[in-house]
Amino acid sequence: MVKVSFHTFGCKCNLSDTNDMALSLLEKGPFLILDGELKADIHVINTCAVTASAEAQARNLVRKLDKNNSSSIILVSGCSNRNQQSSYEDLFKTLSMQNKYSAFDNLKQDICKVVSSFIDIGPLDNAKSTASSVFRTRAFVKVQDGCESFCSYCIVPFVRGKEQSRPKDKIIEEINRLYSEGIKEIVLTGINVGSFKGGLEPLLEEILSATKMPRIRLSSLRPSKLSPRLIELMQEKRICPHLHVSLQSGSDKVLKLMNRNDYTVSDFKSSSKAYFEALKGRSPFMAADVIVGFPGEDKEDFEQTYSAIRDSQLNKLHVFIFSPRPGTKAFGMKTEVLPAESKRRSQLLLDLSRKKYLASLNSMVGKSIEVLWEDNSTGHSENYYPVIGQGKKNTLEQKIVLDIDEENEVLIV
Ligand code: SF4
Repeated sequence: MVKVSFHTFGCKCNLSDTNDMALSLLEKGPFLILDGELKADIHVINTCAVTASAEAQARNLVRKLDKNNSSSIILVSGCSNRNQQSSYEDLFKTLSMQNKYSAFDNLKQDICKVVSSFIDIGPLDNAKSTASSVFRTRAFVKVQDGCESFCSYCIVPFVRGKEQSRPKDKIIEEINRLYSEGIKEIVLTGINVGSFKGGLEPLLEEILSATKMPRIRLSSLRPSKLSPRLIELMQEKRICPHLHVSLQSGSDKVLKLMNRNDYTVSDFKSSSKAYFEALKGRSPFMAADVIVGFPGEDKEDFEQTYSAIRDSQLNKLHVFIFSPRPGTKAFGMKTEVLPAESKRRSQLLLDLSRKKYLASLNSMVGKSIEVLWEDNSTGHSENYYPVIGQGKKNTLEQKIVLDIDEENEVLIV
């Protein structure tokens, strides 16, 4: 068996792409697919270009794998490769001569072609089997790709291209196949799932009526897509009461500078309030992405962001320090925020996030939750809290929350 280890950086869209690549390899030959293992015959690094640090991490991993593995094949795919192809070619030139390298796009067909250029995997039309989700109990179903929003800080529209939605019938077909293979939870992924052609709400309605998938989760959503109809649909038990919104700032001035003109802070406040209100019987969860240190973000803007979040019911934050990406509009914007100040703002939000998250965890004690067990001792609740206890892999079970593990930030059942 040829061991292939996938290393995935970035968003759920990338996880979905990794899953697709792994599946197409499994269809072609005797590959053993591994998740992030440092020893393997082939390493596939699916990169992210969203921050300079994500790109640096991927390059460091290439160097580390090169050092630890003699004569393995190291393949680089994904957004960072599409962003700066030559940098990987340059990087490869500096590495040991024992390993073999290639940088490629992450289309399903590509990986088979690239791998077969190094080892013989037989005719490429020789598909043998299908498997559902290679890596996890939950499967990522990509419904959309690409972005045309051109937020001023973001490289994604340049590396992922125009928006494309998958045909609805193909999505339904895939979900039904996953269900028949035993998958109990799907995550609808995309760069902008809310921009699904024809609307996310009609897609959800169709998934609810044409499939029996017990758990349907949404990946990251723009605040403007949190519509009254979506909130109504999320009251349906099979749709997880869990959202991740890309808020980015609590200052309207900064949102404008970011070219995020489709919502205001007040829109976010009212739609998130409506979400928490409508789903209050289901312990709804909402996380948000926030960027600090964006050019033009003065002290007052940051205070607005801080207080908007403090006063909201948000449960958790993902905080990013602004990272200027060459090729984007914000790259040329003058920044007055010193790195130490960006760090301070980031730390303040991280502290706030931890406080909010621990309060959310505590509020769950004594409640009944549905756990999807990922192995016999760990799983996730429908509102996406990590759970530890005793269970049976890939089963859904109703449990009472007994306590929380504050250090590891998990629910104990
Ligand atoms: S919506 Fe904005 S932040 Fe999101 S991928 Fe598109 S350009 Fe980037």
